[in-house]
This record gives sequence, structure tokens and C-alpha cells, in this order.
Amino acid sequence: MKIGILSRNAGLYSTLKLMEAAKNRDHEVVVINPLQCYMNIASKKPTVIYKKQVLSNFDAIIPRIGASVTFYASAVLRQFEMQGIFCLNSSLAIGRSRDKLRALQILSQQGVGLPVTGFAHSTKMTDDLIKIAKGAPLVVKLLFGSQGKGVVLCETKKAAASVIEAFREIDADFLVQEFIKESGGEDLRCFVVGNNVVAAMKRTAKVGEFRSNLHKGGTAAATEITEQERMTAIVAAQAMGLNVAGVDILRSKRGPLVLEVNSSPGLQGIEKATGLDIATMIIKYIEANQNKKNIVSF
Ligand code: ADP
Ligand code: MG
Repeated sequence: MKIGILSRNAGLYSTLKLMEAAKNRDHEVVVINPLQCYMNIASKKPTVIYKKQVLSNFDAIIPRIGASVTFYASAVLRQFEMQGIFCLNSSLAIGRSRDKLRALQILSQQGVGLPVTGFAHSTKMTDDLIKIAKGAPLVVKLLFGSQGKGVVLCETKKAAASVIEAFREIDADFLVQEFIKESGGEDLRCFVVGNNVVAAMKRTAKVGEFRSNLHKGGTAAATEITEQERMTAIVAAQAMGLNVAGVDILRSKRGPLVLEVNSSPGLQGIEKATGLDIATMIIKYIEANQNKKNIVSF
């Protein structure tokens, strides 16, 4: 197969590992920086031009799209989808997962367990929003944040009101969410490929921090998950329409609660924690599925 990896940096761990895994299985691999692509959408034959050449004859595309380039990189991905090429995750599913509000709405429709979450536009609703989130302490998070940035724990109602006011002042969209105290700074990252959770790790926040993101100094270790957690992760990934996903779950008194579903989950942390070769699992999944008809919906 000829596989394209849509990634801004060929030196990133996940990109390198996917390249290596594909080459080991005798595939040709090209890393395509989406920001250096341009597109021809005027004609009936959509094309992507990269380094002065029309990209052609690809059998599969692996999108590794960073949060800061979602808009443009998704447009490039759509061009490949329009050509009927198998794309590991679709632009539609990636778009759903990047917007935390939209993602929670989709998950809630599927009956997936979630922390109670409020969202409002008007500044007059702050008190009600705080009530929805069951009062302080509560979590306020930016809709398009990632890697723990823009996720704030407000210990008091007063602190929450100030954070909400500040976010509104800069026109940032945010969620107000019940704080799941009993998770104790820990969460689960379940790595889904197709219909399976192929790896799971428990992430623990560093001392004095409630966010367990590895980017925020959290540590990770391989872990066993319950059947209910496994099913929750699979249902969450499928609800978003993602073939490959990193599903973040909090363990709560009322069972597993999904925080978010990541569409370009990093491989480094989970491969290191579990010792598993997830990159090869992804390539094998592509081999088994790339002939399936691509249903394009934007
Ligand atoms: P990001 O996209 O920035 O990773 P998340 O919603 O996944 O945002 O939140 C980052 C981390 O903060 C989570 O992994 C979790 O450890 C912690 N966290 C987020 N929301 C809550 C919550 N409602 N209750 C307890 N901890 C939370
Ligand atoms: Mg997260």
C-alpha cells in the first residue's frame, strides 16, 4: 500500500512509529505536512498539491492533526476523502471530537456516562451554570482546549464566577462541569482501534495538580480495565465515528464517565506504559479495512 501520514512534523514520536511500522510491513509511506498542501476544489477531480506535485495513488491516509491546525488540515483531509481514499479517521469525526460541547452532546445522545456539564452564552446565567455543575468545587474548560490547557478547577463559587467572567471577557467558549472529586487526579486513557480497546493506561496527576495529562507532568502506567469501562470506551469512539481514538475516562461513584475522545491520540505515552506496539496494530487495521467503501459525509 501507499500510505500518507498527514502530520506537520515527521520527527514526532507517533509519526515516526507509524512510518516505521508501515515500512516494516512493506508499505510505502509519505509524510505530508497539511499546512504546505494546497487544494484544487474547482474541478470535478479534487486534488491535493504538495511540493509542486499532485498527490496521487494513495491507498490510505492517516490523519495526525494537531489541535491548532484542525481547520486547515481537515480541509486537506476532506480532499482525500472526496477521492475515495480510505482515511483512518474522517474529517467529520475529527471535527466532532475537537469541539468538547459537540462531543458531549453526541455522547449523551448515546447514553454514555458523562460528568454533568453546563454551557451558556449569556453572562446572566452564571449562577445557574454553577448550580448545574452542582456548585463548587467545579471545573471550567475551554471548548477547544487540549493537553490540559484551559482546564481550571475552581474551589469556590466566587472563583468560578471570576473565571467565567474572564473567559467571557476574551470571548472564549467554555464548559462548566461537575468536579469528579473521587477520581483523585487519576483517569484512564483507553486506546481504541476498530472495535477493540487495544491498550489502556492509568494516568496520575503530579502532586498538587488535578489534571492527569502527561503534558502537565502526569505519570502513566498500564492498567486493567473493567468490562463496563471497555464497553464505554468502544461506544464513545463509535458514537464519534472514530476508528482510532483515545478515550479519557474518569472513575466515579456512578461508574465510568467519559471526559473526551481524542482523534489523534499520542502513541508515546501509551506504548511506553504498556510495552505494546500500537503503531503496528494501526497499520494492520488499515490493511484489513482500506478496501471498505468510504462513505463521505461532511
Ligand atoms: P484536555 O483536552 O485539555 O485534555 P480534559 O477535559 O481531558 O481536557 O481535562 C484534562 C484533565 O483534567 C483530565 O485528564 C482529568 O485528569 C482532569 N479533569 C477534567 N475534567 C475533570 C472533572 N470534571 N473532574 C475531575 N477531573 C477532571
Ligand atoms: Mg484530555
